[in-house]
Amino acid sequence: MSIGGYAHDASGDVVPRSKARPSVVHTDATAAVAADAEIAQMSEADLLAGIDRLRTERDAVILAHNYQIPAVQDLADFVGDSLQLSQQAAATDKSVIVFCGVHFMAETAAILSPDKTVLIPDAEAGCSLAASVTADEVIAWRDEHPGGVVVSYVNTNADVKAVSDYCCTSANAIDVVRSVPEGRDILFLPDMFLGLWAERESGRKLHLWLGECHVHAGFRPEHVLEALDAHPGSDLLLHPECGCVSQCMYHVAEGDIPADRTHVLSTGGMVRYAQTTEVPVAIVGTETGMLHRMRAENQRTDFLPLSESAVCEYMKTITVPKVYRSLRDMVDVVTVPADVADKARLAIDRMVATVPA
Ligand code: SF4
Repeated sequence: MSIGGYAHDASGDVVPRSKARPSVVHTDATAAVAADAEIAQMSEADLLAGIDRLRTERDAVILAHNYQIPAVQDLADFVGDSLQLSQQAAATDKSVIVFCGVHFMAETAAILSPDKTVLIPDAEAGCSLAASVTADEVIAWRDEHPGGVVVSYVNTNADVKAVSDYCCTSANAIDVVRSVPEGRDILFLPDMFLGLWAERESGRKLHLWLGECHVHAGFRPEHVLEALDAHPGSDLLLHPECGCVSQCMYHVAEGDIPADRTHVLSTGGMVRYAQTTEVPVAIVGTETGMLHRMRAENQRTDFLPLSESAVCEYMKTITVPKVYRSLRDMVDVVTVPADVADKARLAIDRMVATVPA
């Protein structure tokens, strides 16, 4: 295995390259809502009624990711993971898509539905993982592996997708990796934890990019062991982006963590788990927005966060007033240059077509 996206620290050790993480502390959309005279007079009920009226007038569908705040999930027409939202965006017959998620997701919707207007309520809703690799870096990495196949996690910007062969989500990463013809080098980016998991589960050797999501990388095996100690008999659900998955699997192999109660699941897989489980307690290792959806699906089970601080500020920057403003003013429109979109669409189409087994 070779690795990409690394640097050496002062002692010469290999470490992930430090990247500028986008900030949502002061966004233009936040400032616009704060200065908006109409919104200042509106109650939450007024905003929701206004969104319903505008949704019809604009012929719009509102899509929300599982990590959105509960109020935004509740007003959406469809809530799902990246793959499900991409499929919804590709299939909708509405004229306008309001994408309540982060920017690369809205870009993907714009690529899949070039004849629709795609809006994002806060255009600065970025992603630390998507920011960990650029298109030029992919091209340079590819040059080191002639004939290699680039598999990009969907958490990448459109220009990175455009220089990739396949896209995948956590829901279908294993199936996408398995679909690459045998004998080809596979360059997997940008999430190293998802890559390690896909490598183990698929049985294919991968070259990994050293990128990570700051939310999921924060989970440590000691968090898991403490939570299992506090709630004996509970199930453990881990998103494959979590920084602890590989080490947790080591503990599973050692018998420290019960194998039959440990599940590595995409966010869509977590929803399906919630719909059917009968366990009294499940500890959920992903962004805390997931809990709202799981609790709505199942009131029998107590769904507890592995970490209360696993909160993505990019997802949480989308609010009800911003959704209202987005529909009222038709802002911000997400566009992708046609030449980039045409190349990225090939990789995304392979992702959408690869339904998880
Ligand atoms: S949770 Fe992590 S990967 Fe997901 S949008 Fe936030 S920063 Fe990106």
